[in-house]
Amino acid sequence: MINIILLGPPGAGKGTQAKLLEEKLGLKQLSSGDMLRAAVSRGTAVGQKAKSYMDAGKLVPNQVVVDVVFESIDALSSSNGIILDGFPRTVEQAEALDKKLAEKNARIDGVIVIKVRDEKLVERIAGRYTCAKCGEGYHDSFKKPTTADGSCDKCGSQDFKRRDDDRPEKVKERLNAYHKQTVPLIDYYEKRGKVAVIDGELSIEDVSHKMDEVLASFEGAESSVTGG
Ligand SMILES: [Zn+2]
Repeated sequence: MINIILLGPPGAGKGTQAKLLEEKLGLKQLSSGDMLRAAVSRGTAVGQKAKSYMDAGKLVPNQVVVDVVFESIDALSSSNGIILDGFPRTVEQAEALDKKLAEKNARIDGVIVIKVRDEKLVERIAGRYTCAKCGEGYHDSFKKPTTADGSCDKCGSQDFKRRDDDRPEKVKERLNAYHKQTVPLIDYYEKRGKVAVIDGELSIEDVSHKMDEVLASFEGAESSVTGG
C-alpha cells in the first residue's frame, strides 16, 4: 500500500504518469475533477451540494471538495494505494487529509513534484491546436500536419482552431496561480520529509523511470511492491 500525491503545473504530464502508475502498480488515480463528477453522478448528499455550486457556475467551496474526496476514498474497494491529483490544493486540505488517512491507519507516503520550466510549459500548451472538422490534435513544434499544403492529415481540412485558454498570456496566468497555490503546500510536505522532485522535461519514458526510483525510495514502498 502506497499513497502518493502528484503535483505539477498544467502541461507537466501528470495525467500520463498517473496512468502509467495505475497500470504498473495497481494504484488508483483520484483526480479532483473526476471525483467531483463521480460524486455528482452518484447523487449523494455531498454530490448534490457540489452540483448546486457547479450548476450556478460557482467555485465549489473548500469543505465540499474535502467531503467529496473523502467520500471517494471511503468508496474505494481494494487497491494497492492511491495517486491524488489536484487535491490537496491548500495546507488546510492537506491537514484534513492527514487526519482522515490517520483514522484509516494510512498516510501519504510521498509527494512527487513534476517540475517543468514555465517557458517550456508555455511552448507545450500554447503550441497546441486541433482540426476544426475531425478534432485531430496538432502542435506547432512537435506535431505539424505532414501534408504538403498543411491540411489535416486525417481529413484534409484546412480549418484549425486553438483554445482561448491555451493562449500564452492565459497559460502564464494559470502558471502564476499554480505557483502561488503550491508553494505553501510543497513547504508543508517538505517539512515532513516527503517531497521528491522529478525533472518533467525528460521524455515520458525517462520521467516514468524516475518515478519508479522515487516510489521505491518512499518509506513503505518496499512492502507494497513485494506484498501486493
Ligand atoms: Zn481533420
